[in-house]
Amino acid sequence: MNTRRDFLQKMGASALMLKLGSVAAFANVPDPIEPPYKGKVLRVAIMGLGGYGNRVAEAMKACTKAKLVGVISGTPSKIKDWQTKYNIPEKNCYNYENFDQVKNNPDIDAIYVITPNALHHNQVIRAAKAGKHVICEKPMALNAKEGQEMVDACKKANVMLLVGYRMHFEPRTLEVIRMRNAGEFGKVMFFQGLCGFKAGDPNQWRLNKALAGGGSMMDIGIYALNGARYMVGEEPIWVTAQETKTDPVKFKDGVDETIQFQLGFPSGAVASCLSSYNINHLDRFFVSGDKGFAEMQPSTGYGPIRGRTHKGELTQPITTHQTVQMDEMAAIIFEDHKPVVAVNGEEGLKDLKIIDAIYQAAKTGKKVELSA
Ligand code: NDP
Repeated sequence: MNTRRDFLQKMGASALMLKLGSVAAFANVPDPIEPPYKGKVLRVAIMGLGGYGNRVAEAMKACTKAKLVGVISGTPSKIKDWQTKYNIPEKNCYNYENFDQVKNNPDIDAIYVITPNALHHNQVIRAAKAGKHVICEKPMALNAKEGQEMVDACKKANVMLLVGYRMHFEPRTLEVIRMRNAGEFGKVMFFQGLCGFKAGDPNQWRLNKALAGGGSMMDIGIYALNGARYMVGEEPIWVTAQETKTDPVKFKDGVDETIQFQLGFPSGAVASCLSSYNINHLDRFFVSGDKGFAEMQPSTGYGPIRGRTHKGELTQPITTHQTVQMDEMAAIIFEDHKPVVAVNGEEGLKDLKIIDAIYQAAKTGKKVELSA
C-alpha cells in the first residue's frame, strides 16, 4: 500500500494542490508528520439536512480547517437530532423563515446550501445579504440568469460564492488534469462522459420540474459537462443535443429522462456525453489525445474513483471527497488558495450557460453557438 509520504514524494504536494491535512483526512487518523493546524477554522452552517447534507456533515468530522457549527432546516426534529449528534448550540439553529438573522451571529462564517435546486437562488442571495460566505450545491441555480444574479449578489455583499464541485479536489482526477497540462496526452481530441442512474421514487423532488428545474441534466449530466470542461481544459464554443423519453409519465414535460449532448472546443476537440435518469452503471470518463489517453470508471461517484492512463493504473490516494473539499474551501476563503480547477460562482455560472444551451439545442434540434 502507498503511504502518504511515498505519495507526496512521488507526486509533489504542490502539483496536486493537496494540503497534507487533506490526505490525512482520508484515513481519519492523526497525522504523524504534520503539526496540529493552528490557523483559522471555517465555521459552517448547513442548510437542508437531507441525504447529501448528512454525508457532508459526517465527512466534516475529519476536517482540520472547517467545522460544522450550525444548521438551517425546515424540520425541527432533524435540528434536535443534529444538535445532539454534532454538538450544535441552540443559538446556531435556524429555519428558512428566520435565517436572515444569521447576520447577527459572529460564530458562523459560511452557509452551505444543500437544498433542492430551485431554492438555491433565493437562499444564496439571502445568505450573502446576511454577510456570510456561501457554498452552494450543484447545479448552482436553474439557469444562467439566476446564476448571474447570485454571483452579483455575493460580489455586492463582498462574500465568496463557491460551488460543491467535489471532483475538483479528487487526487486521481487531478492527476489526469496534471498529465494533460504537462502534454502527456499530446493534443487532446476527444472526451466521452457517461453519467446516469435509474431514478427511483416517482414522487421525489428530482422529478418535479418546479423544484429540480429539469431532469437528469441538472442533477447528473452536469458531471459529464463539468468533466468535459476540466478534462479537455477548454471552454466549449458550440453544443448540439438530443433528448430521448421512454417514460413520459415518470419523466413529465420539462423533466428530461435521457439527453445526449456534444460539445465543440476551440482547439477542434469534441466531447460526446450522455446524461440519464433511466440507465444504470453510467459513471465513466474517457479522454484521448494523439499521444495518450485516460479512462476513469467510476469517474464521479463518491469513490473510490478508479482509472488508468496509457502509462498505467492511477494510484493516487483515495479520499473522502467532502472532507477534502471543505478543508480546501476553507483555504480558498481564508488563505486565498487557488484550486487547480475553479469552484467559484463564475465556474458554476459557466455550467449553467451551457446547460441553457443544451436544453435549447435539444428543443430546437439546432446547433447552439456559445460565446466565450
Ligand atoms: P434531499 O431530498 O435528500 O435533501 C434536501 C433537503 O432540503 C431536505 O431534506 C430538506 O431538509 C430541504 N428542503 C427544503 N425545502 C425542501 C422541499 N421543498 N422539498 C424537499 N426538500 C426540501 O436532497 P439531496 O440532499 O440529495 O440534494 C440536495 C442538493 O444537493 C441538490 O441540489 C443536489 O443536486 C445536491 N447534491 C449534490 C451531490 C454532490 O455529490 N455534490 C450529491 C447529492 C446531492 P430540511 O428538512 O432540513 O429542511
